[in-house]
Formats: sequence, structure tokens, C-alpha cells
Amino acid sequence: MTLKDYIWFDPTKCLIGGNWVSPQNGDYIPLINPSTGEELCNIARGQSGDIDAGVSAARSALDGEWGRMAAPERGRMLLELGRLVLTKVDELAHLEALDVGKPLKQAHADVIALARYMEFYGGAADKLHGTTIPYLDGYTVYSLREPHGVTGHIVPWNYPMQIIGRSVGAALAAGNAAVLKPAEEACLTALAFGDLAMQVGIPSGAINIIPGLGAEAGAALSSHKNVEHISFTGSVDVGSLIQTAAAQNIVPVTLELGGKSPQLVFEDADLEAALPFLVNAGIQNAGQTCSASSRILVQKSRYAEVLSLMADRYNALQIGPALSDLDVGPLISQRQKKIVDGFIEKGSDLEKIASGKIIADAPLGGSYAVPTLFASHDCTHCLAQDEIFGPIQVVIPFEDETEALAIANGTDYGLVASVWTQDGARQMRTAKAIRSGQVFINNYGAGGGVELPFGGVGKSGHGREKGFEALYGFTKLKTVAAYHG
Ligand code: NAD
Repeated sequence: MTLKDYIWFDPTKCLIGGNWVSPQNGDYIPLINPSTGEELCNIARGQSGDIDAGVSAARSALDGEWGRMAAPERGRMLLELGRLVLTKVDELAHLEALDVGKPLKQAHADVIALARYMEFYGGAADKLHGTTIPYLDGYTVYSLREPHGVTGHIVPWNYPMQIIGRSVGAALAAGNAAVLKPAEEACLTALAFGDLAMQVGIPSGAINIIPGLGAEAGAALSSHKNVEHISFTGSVDVGSLIQTAAAQNIVPVTLELGGKSPQLVFEDADLEAALPFLVNAGIQNAGQTCSASSRILVQKSRYAEVLSLMADRYNALQIGPALSDLDVGPLISQRQKKIVDGFIEKGSDLEKIASGKIIADAPLGGSYAVPTLFASHDCTHCLAQDEIFGPIQVVIPFEDETEALAIANGTDYGLVASVWTQDGARQMRTAKAIRSGQVFINNYGAGGGVELPFGGVGKSGHGREKGFEALYGFTKLKTVAAYHG
């Protein structure tokens, strides 16, 4: 099976103002299949002129049909889009598997998540309202939630459908018009999403999609004077550039920048229940997940047992092409593989506990990294501190709750954490004490469902996506104070 068996749109175009157009300067970027290293197709190398056109189209949509559309009608369109996504599960999952390299069943789950975002935000569009505020005698005061206007969305390659769903879905539900810059490494499902949005009749210009390089199209979007909110998911370095660009124009930003998420396993934990979460949260999407759990903290009395159980799972892991649908697929690129292999080398002074196996007939050009489990007594080691974005986990022992919390909170990040214990008081105490945007108790949600507000503290970023919080983030609040005596 090849790309042409699943693609139904022209991947070389940009979606601007409801039209599929070629990039203004006629430049293209090759899109690589990470499972084989072969070229899948070309995509547009959009630049500042294309971004200008996208931002103008979004503004026209807000000044026209889209801006005037009542909230229930906007909601109905998103619900319809969710239904259409579900009729294309097979095509979308294959496009994502070919483009991102993720095993087919994981790509399939992402399609379902995209549909869920449309359902959730479609249903929420007409439930986003202000409040009345008691004030002085003779006044009636109320607040209005208004869209920011043109919103810019810069999306990474690891979960295109999920990140587009949570960010563009919430922005549209709140009445904004979106300009989306997908990642240059993976943008087929972004373009597919644009085509489906046109099919359900979302007015021209409400969604504009311009592929291109980060330093060109991405930088042009984040610094554009007529963009009124920026939503970014990706690396800390680029997040910092985006926040700087937004500061020049004084516009709000939502930054989701990854993490070093810990799972804390206390001696009274139900290990049978915990084990699948401990490992899966580290290897899902080959560890290229912002909420990957790359640190497993275990109380000393059960340390050897957890290492042995996790080692059994690692030793059985199979790595191969996305369409073979094994446990782990390739990394997104040879560049990412070099980074991850570099971390495995840096772990040579730690104890290597176990590793998975790349299948014998995996294509040589694929960017496969070997999932590797390390034990470390040093929580300051770079493998226990840096976001790796690969299938590597470090297991660290702790003596007691105080030490567990100190280690858990001892990185620059704070996105997701989990606590495995049967002790109710400890569950509550540790959930409060962990510095993180989400804490799971006796489970690990890898970001959780579409309903659960998600975002970080520290270098994991700021602002909240998902759930109703995201809708609030995509609006500005106006207070109206009427004096009537
Ligand atoms: P990146 O931050 O460079 O890219 C993410 C998005 O930002 C892409 O769409 C890219 O085109 C765009 N971008 C890049 N430079 C830009 C600029 N100057 N201005 C505006 N937009 C720009 O991430 P990457 O290089 O793809 O991956 C590098 C590392 O980032 C990974 O190893 C990982 O640690 C982290 N990362 C995190 C996430 C996450 O989900 N939090 C996702 C991808 C990567």
C-alpha cells in the first residue's frame, strides 16, 4: 500500500480563503516516510506572502459570514466535521502512519481523538457565556466572552491530528478564524482536515492551512501584526522565540513545550495495574510525546521488582514500520534518531536494564531507535533531566515520600505526573505537592481525554488546552457596566 491508496487531495497546496492554492514563490519541501526514508510527496514551502494571504483571509472571514454565524450553527458545523472524520478513519490513520511513522493502531486512536475534539467543541460552542456581576446600586454589570479574532496555530509533527483538534477546534468553537502552520516533517492529516472542513461547509477563510518551514512560515505567522493569539506546541527553544515575537505585538500565547513526566510508584502500589502504564507511557509514539513518562520513580523496597517486570516488557518489544503495526515505529526523522541515539550513548555510565528489538526486515532507510530501559541512582543525570523525545525510560529509586517529591519536582518541567499508591491520604498529599499541570492517581493518561484541561508549569509552558479551559483561553472577556439609576 502506498500514499496514493489513501490520499484524496493535492498535498502540494495551501488552503487559503477556501481555495487550494500553490505557494506564491513555487517552492516545495519533500515529505519523508520515516519507516523507509523514501520520499512520500512534496508539500508547499509557504513563506511570508502566503502567511499574509492566510491572515487576510481569516480577517475577511471574521468580517463576513463566519463572524456573523451564531454559536449553535458554528457548533453544528464542528459536529458535522467530527462525523465526517469518522467516515475517513482508515484513510486518515494510514496517512498519519505513513507521514509520522506511528504504528497504525496508534494513528487510528488519533483519528478518533480528532473526531472527539470536534464533538466536544462542537457541543460546547453555544455554552460559552459570560456572567452577571453584582455591583453598586443602580448598575447592571455583565461580561461577554468574545473571540480574539485571527488565531495562529503552530503545530508539531508528533500528534498532528490531536493537536489540531484541541487547538483549532477550540479556537473555531469560540468564534475565531484560524491560520494553521503544520510541521514540515508531517502535515498530510492537517491538509486532509482542511479538505474535510471545506466539505462540511465551514465558511471560506475560517480555516487556512499553510505548510512551510518553521524559520520561514512559522516565524512569519508568530510575528504577524494582525494575528491576535498564538498557540504553539513544540520545543522550549522555539516556544521562547514565539513568546518573544508575540511580546512585540502584545498578543497572548499558549505554549505547550513538553516535559520530563514522572510516575511515582510507592511500596503499596498495585504493580499489576501499574505495569502497562509504566511502560506504555514511555514508548507510545516511540516516546515522541510531550506527556511521555520518561522517569519512573520507585520506592526502594520494590525497586528490583519493578525493574525486572519492566525489563520483561522491554525485552519483548518489537520495533518496525508503521504499517506493520508493532509496539514501536520509527522516529520522525534521521535527525531525531541522531538525538535519541546520542542519549543512549550518554547513558553508558548508567546500568542498561533491557532493550527492545528492531525486526530483521525493517527497511534500512527507516529512522529506528532501540527502546532502552536504564536504572539510575543519579537523578541529576541528563537522561533523568532532559526531554529526550525517544523511547528511553530511566528508573530511579527513592527512600520515602519526601525524597520522591523532591525528585519528581527536580526538573525544569511540569506537564504530567502519576502516583501509584493505595493510601488515600498519600494520594491527596502527593497530588497537591507535585509541580505539574496534570496529576493522575493510579493511572496515567498521557495528556488525558479531550475534556481534561492540559498544560504545563515551568518550561513545560503556560496556558491550558483541552476541556472548557481552552475555550476560555481562546476568548477575551469584556465587562459591560450599565448605570440605570
Ligand atoms: P520545533 O519546536 O522546532 O517545531 C515545532 C513547530 O514549530 C513546527 O511546526 C516548526 O515548523 C515550528 N517552528 C520551528 N521553528 C520556528 C520558528 N523560528 N518560528 C515559528 N515556528 C517555528 O520542534 P522540532 O525541531 O520539530 O523537535 C525538536 C524537539 O522539540 C524534540 O526533540 C522535542 O524535544 C521537542 N518537541 C516537543 C513537542 C511537544 O509536543 N511538546 C513536539 C515536537 C517537538
